[in-house]
Amino acid sequence: MIIKKDKSTIQNYFQDNSGVFGSYADFIAIAENEDDISKFLIEMSEKQVPVTIAGALTGNTASGLAFGGAVLSLENLNSIGEIKKNDDNSAFVSVQAGARISDIRIKAYQSGWLYPPDPTEKSAFIGGNIATNASGARGFKFGVTRDYVQALKIVFSDGSKSFIERGKIFSDKKGNISFNTSKGIKHIKLPEYTLPYIKNAAGYYNYPHSDLIDVFIGQEGTLCVIVEAVLKLVPHFKDVFGGIIFFQRHNDVFMFVNEIKSISKKAKEEKLKNVINAMSLEYFDKNALDLIRDDYPAIPLEAESGIMFEQDVYDDNTDLLIDKWYKIMQKYHIDDDKVWFASNLMELEKFRIFRHAIPEHVNEIVKKNKMPKVGTDFAVPDGKLLDIVDFCQKEFKNSGIFNLTFGHIGENHLHANILASNKDEYERCRKLYIDICSKVVELKGTVSAEHGIGKLRHIFLEKMIGKEGFEEMAKFKTSLDESAILCQDNIFPKAYLYEKTCN
Ligand SMILES: Cc1cc2nc3c(=O)[nH]c(=O)nc-3n(C[C@H](O)[C@H](O)[C@H](O)COP(=O)(O)OP(=O)(O)OC[C@H]3O[C@@H](n4cnc5c(N)ncnc54)[C@H](O)[C@@H]3O)c2cc1C
Repeated sequence: MIIKKDKSTIQNYFQDNSGVFGSYADFIAIAENEDDISKFLIEMSEKQVPVTIAGALTGNTASGLAFGGAVLSLENLNSIGEIKKNDDNSAFVSVQAGARISDIRIKAYQSGWLYPPDPTEKSAFIGGNIATNASGARGFKFGVTRDYVQALKIVFSDGSKSFIERGKIFSDKKGNISFNTSKGIKHIKLPEYTLPYIKNAAGYYNYPHSDLIDVFIGQEGTLCVIVEAVLKLVPHFKDVFGGIIFFQRHNDVFMFVNEIKSISKKAKEEKLKNVINAMSLEYFDKNALDLIRDDYPAIPLEAESGIMFEQDVYDDNTDLLIDKWYKIMQKYHIDDDKVWFASNLMELEKFRIFRHAIPEHVNEIVKKNKMPKVGTDFAVPDGKLLDIVDFCQKEFKNSGIFNLTFGHIGENHLHANILASNKDEYERCRKLYIDICSKVVELKGTVSAEHGIGKLRHIFLEKMIGKEGFEEMAKFKTSLDESAILCQDNIFPKAYLYEKTCN
């Protein structure tokens, strides 16, 4: 274990993309192997020193930021193993937690494989992606990080180690699970709150008949340290194309998206070939487009919103498929000059940079304004998207605060950013966010579909699961992290841990 205490060096660990300031720790511990982590956690547990696990610190919710105690960094555990083929036309690769997803994706691509999860921020570590169950634009077709994690090597705060494989151990009807660790069997009981059956990254996983591995995905570092993962890879597509379409009328976008979604859903379910089957469907509102207009002056001035799409192709039918997309566009009166088209991976990469430019600009504003980021991460069930978008638009208009919305419209999952320029506006933004969350919960949605809860969104999660849910979480956490030192204040307020100790 490398220990760093020098103030100027350790400053780098005190900032992520949440815009939260004031993070601090007594020292940074940089792990060099699994045993290091095990010994370190035993020592910290004995001394009751809180430990915050840091990935690449690209998170939006301050979940990787420490407020006292120690930071455990996985940055030196960054190796990516050899890719091995399975019998079923898939492959797998073992990666250490500090491997960057950009490196994993490149290594897979070079041998003809695809690691499908594509969170926009490619410098993130795979450990961070797993701990937040990250996902990206291609989640519309390929799902989330969870869907590609086949096995995990983890270390608990009592120093015990475990290797958990998918498909081996499941919760019983009452949510009980028992599993082996290097220090004996652990018995746990999952919390009982109800989570929505849509894309979700809020709260501990507790669906009926839960696979044990899923419990450790999306736990935001609160249950254990992820040291290594085995990831599933799929064959890389042969060809790809995509476009950015600019719309002048708000309603056309939603009708267009609904049609593409239903055709794609049918294609996926019935495994149809040579039909529209979008890999991603991303939305940008007018303010999001205006934000990057200086970098992209060709964005049509009259554009009220935009959609970016991608389709993957596995045979030689690219031209036929492109034709099908153009026919649908004609149906919605979209002129050719309102479409930017990409006919290969390199061209498409430019669109992905365009897409990435929006959250990057948002983060620059957040840093400049020195106010924490207020950005929604909600998802709602099919048929409810317009309800929540209309609700947000009305609220934003009344507030007069600068806002913009973009995100994964194919999954009814949007990031509405309300960017406060001073403290008063920030308080109003938070209030607005709470109202949006209440509406999301009323629509049976989730308050976080990909970024997690971290330290900034407790109050929003409370709308979903109530204070009783937090109490259950505290009990659940301490059944695995007995000394309660890991990533305190992530997901639920740490006061619930102390209440438990006092009772
Ligand atoms: C421009 C931009 C775009 C983004 N786009 C997306 C997007 O499209 N989709 C998306 O999901 N997110 C997105 N994010 C957010 C961020 O990249 C993800 O949340 C990512 O998963 C964080 O990974 P990280 O390595 O930076 O982790 P950190 O931010 O360092 O930590 C995140 C959480 O993971 C925990 N953690 C990290 N490593 C481990 C480990 N080894 N074991 C246990 N716990 C661990 C930390 O304690 C913390 O709770 C974006 C961020 C930026 C800046």
